[in-house]
Amino acid sequence: MKTISFQKEQGVSIRKLNIIMFILAAVASVVLFVTMRFTTRMNENTLAMSHDVIAMQQSANELMKASDYLTEQMRAFVVTGERKYFDNYYNEATVDRRRDKALLELKEKNGKSKAYSDLQKAMDDSMELMNIEYYAARLAIEGYGCNIDAFPDLVKQVQIKKVDQKLSKEDKIELAQALMFDDDYSARKESISKYTNECLTDLTNELKERQETMAAHVQKQVWFEHFMTWVLIVITLAIVILTARLVIIPLNKAVARIREEKDIPLEGAYEIRFLAKTYNLMYQTNVVDKQKLNYEATHDKLTGLYNRRGYEFLLKNVDMESATLLVIDLDKFKQINDMYGHDMGDKALAKTGDVIFNSFRNQDYVCRIGGDEFAVIMVHCSSDLKELIAKKVDTMNDKLQNALDGVPAITISVGVAFGETGESVDKIFKNADAALYEAKQSGRCCVKFAKDEK
Ligand code: GH3
Ligand code: MG
Repeated sequence: MKTISFQKEQGVSIRKLNIIMFILAAVASVVLFVTMRFTTRMNENTLAMSHDVIAMQQSANELMKASDYLTEQMRAFVVTGERKYFDNYYNEATVDRRRDKALLELKEKNGKSKAYSDLQKAMDDSMELMNIEYYAARLAIEGYGCNIDAFPDLVKQVQIKKVDQKLSKEDKIELAQALMFDDDYSARKESISKYTNECLTDLTNELKERQETMAAHVQKQVWFEHFMTWVLIVITLAIVILTARLVIIPLNKAVARIREEKDIPLEGAYEIRFLAKTYNLMYQTNVVDKQKLNYEATHDKLTGLYNRRGYEFLLKNVDMESATLLVIDLDKFKQINDMYGHDMGDKALAKTGDVIFNSFRNQDYVCRIGGDEFAVIMVHCSSDLKELIAKKVDTMNDKLQNALDGVPAITISVGVAFGETGESVDKIFKNADAALYEAKQSGRCCVKFAKDEK
């Protein structure tokens, strides 16, 4: 099969466009996806951080509570001398150790923060306060006459100052109570409370600061996500519009034009234009071939006039009721063939065709309907033109008898029938044929008109 090749078309290639759009959409989608992941992660971090800070605040509160609990229990012990209060105290200080645990938790979460160093200071104060508390406990044990051996080593090891050793039991109790309630003790407690509060404030500020930073980040992220979403929308719209302009509209137009049996307009993407050009070329070739075939099917090769098939087509399609039909036959044509040969016979036929063709108007149809038989359909012609037709026949016979061109003299006989309203084509032909017969009978080289046989 013949390959059709065209010069490289300039313009947008749908394949290239498709690749570019795909890359743009893919990049935008990936950026958007990464941004969204980043935002999600940020939110998760903010949430985790909030939980952390809340946990750290709880730790700070826990330290304060534990410290207050120790104070409470020791104060109760020095006031009542009941062992259970000392045990509660000792249990908190050595077993539960809520303060140590709270400090450790804060250290693990953020050991470098100011909040941690503040809580550490509170813890230091609390530890120092324990020295006073153990001293007061030792004094109270002796004041209340408890068995020191039943108490843990931590209390046993406390050395009572010499001055205090000399005090009476009551005074020892009084001193122990004074130690636990005096201004110095209260000042130290306040110091613990101050550092704990500072720690809490630090944590609150830290949380606020981090949340503000996060909020600013998130705002930027959201703005960027909006922007990227718009980019994606624009890319999607561009894909839709470009696909419509470069492919769908040209294809629809092409389909409509193919249905109308017309050329396809050269528009749209390079590939569509290439297809259109290919189709147009094939269509034109097909049209020319068809026209050639039609022409060959309806025309006579020898004379170039309409052949029998063309003549029959014309009879069906021309308004014969207002036309005149001439049936023409060469006189004694067999003799020409016999005397001069078949080739000369052909030349005579061709000459007769030319002479007849040139004797009528352009709108009339001249046909070769048999071997030496011709027909002329004179459109819009009535019996008024009888004389004119007769003259034409005479002129044609004059021309055909002129043998100067090397073609032997020939003559024609003509039968004419005028179409009439309501008359069939067959009837018109029969009338013309009958008139031709009459012309032959009356000596040939003449024209006869059909009689009105209605
Ligand atoms: P008439 O006056 O009665 O018509 O006599 P005629 O000899 O013309 O008789 P007819 O019309 O019956 O004969 C037509 C002849 O035309 C017969 C045939 O040999 C010849 N003929 C038919 N077609 C061709 C053709 O294509 N070329 C040539 N050279 N001769 C043809
Ligand atoms: Mg003849």
